[in-house]
Amino acid sequence: MINDLWYKNAIIYCLSVEKYLDGNGDGIGDFAGLTSRLDYLAGLGVTCVWLQPFYPSPDRDNGYDVAEFYGVDPKYGTLGDYVEFMNHAKQLGMRVIVDLVVNHTSINHPWFRAARKDPKSPFRDWYVWSKKRPADHDEGMVFPGVQKTTWTYDEVAGEYYFHRFYDHQADLNTHHPGVREEIRRIMGFWLELGVSGFRMDAVPFLIERKGAGVKPVKDYELLHEMRDFLQWRRGDAILLAEANVVPDENMHYFGEAGDRLQMMLNFPVNQRLFYAMATADIRPLVKALEDTYWRPHAAQWVNFLRSHDELDLGRLTEAQRQKVFAAFGPEKSMQLYNRGIRRRLAPMLGNDRRRLELAYSLVFTLPGTPMLGYGDEIGMGDDLSLPERECARTAMQWSADPLGGFTAGPRSRVPVIKDPWYGFEKVNVEAQRRDPHSLLNWMERKIRMRRECPEISWGDWKILKTSADGVLAIHYSWKGSRLTTLHNFADEPRVVRISDGASGQTMVDLLASHDSTPDKRGRHRIELEPFGYRWFRSGGIDHVSTV
Ligand code: MG
Repeated sequence: MINDLWYKNAIIYCLSVEKYLDGNGDGIGDFAGLTSRLDYLAGLGVTCVWLQPFYPSPDRDNGYDVAEFYGVDPKYGTLGDYVEFMNHAKQLGMRVIVDLVVNHTSINHPWFRAARKDPKSPFRDWYVWSKKRPADHDEGMVFPGVQKTTWTYDEVAGEYYFHRFYDHQADLNTHHPGVREEIRRIMGFWLELGVSGFRMDAVPFLIERKGAGVKPVKDYELLHEMRDFLQWRRGDAILLAEANVVPDENMHYFGEAGDRLQMMLNFPVNQRLFYAMATADIRPLVKALEDTYWRPHAAQWVNFLRSHDELDLGRLTEAQRQKVFAAFGPEKSMQLYNRGIRRRLAPMLGNDRRRLELAYSLVFTLPGTPMLGYGDEIGMGDDLSLPERECARTAMQWSADPLGGFTAGPRSRVPVIKDPWYGFEKVNVEAQRRDPHSLLNWMERKIRMRRECPEISWGDWKILKTSADGVLAIHYSWKGSRLTTLHNFADEPRVVRISDGASGQTMVDLLASHDSTPDKRGRHRIELEPFGYRWFRSGGIDHVSTV
């Protein structure tokens, strides 16, 4: 067995360079600022930073509208600043993955400009055109309610172009050999500049056949091609997919032989996790975990709570979704795209520390690799007066200094939260660093413990039956060590009776002093507080190393 699959036991932290820290006082976050906070991230226990797009872009969709794939937008610094950042991350033993956004480009991209101007341009076929408006022009929008169509007439070209996302993001024809070669070139460029892989944006759309009247068949071979190229260029690099698909399709993305993507964000579990937190009914969550159980040996799920996008509840039943809305986003202004909630986690959970701890304890202990979004570690809030997903993309709150320590300049060009509950004067890194009971310090301790629990990342697991409603019990085993985690979703205490399969051994509490000794029949009786959680180890091994 290969034991150095680093991503299996990683702690991933997703951030936007623009929103993190302004190093030059112009009011926009940049690589110089981020570099100066790498020690903070290392101290928190982060082992892999996922950078959201920092490429030149008109920035009409948080940088996911790329106008140049081979550079750094000047507002974030130079390519030299990027390399300094990469070097510092390497010194701290941290890996970096970057967003690969090649389903579409900005309409400002020189390829699209050339394509629209001249039907004979070699770039014309890099995009998807139609002389007539296709009949299904009002179907398949990624942003329903905001986006009206997927085909927009271009005056310059005299034809309609296809855009799965906003009309300023023209889809690339990813079945054109020239586009495929260019995708490999982009990957090769950033691999040569030190990245450990890519978070691939919009994968199900990327691999679809596109065009008016064309059946949108998915070509998974593209994923195999990308993986092949990736591994040839860099053996330990990974592809992490954003692919919100039903569990039946997972193996198409991982590849039966494990020869496509190594990692996928676990959307099925994410949605049912919020349903469980809203209702204390864990049955759909248990099913989602079991539905995503099987995967190739080297593949791994990434578990998360919130990201820079809305919380997408599109795969819950209507009744389930309404329950989550009622609990966490009852007002229309909190909801988005008829399917999700756009708030950050802390406001959703009413800033209830018990519920926040339960949520993050789950992310750290569900089967897979955990991911945090920037600001989660201090419980940042949102600003619902900002449009769409922008409400949760505000400046990182470093201190109670003016503008939250985000910039030393006179003004911030990134929204800064100032409200009395989640504003930077109330919620910031500096204050939480000094408070031993802060969420930040809690998070750091949990991350430290999580990194010492490779059973979760590497081991086999099963759900344990318990007698208690609303309690999720998972049992992991790996290399003779056993780990049992318990989470009480209910707002009431619960008594749990379980057997961890080890005869007569004490289960050692990894987080507090609640060790449990079994009765004569080998069963443990454990009392859990409302929203309580436990991480137990048994098997006599104090610490298990992956190497
Ligand atoms: Mg700046």
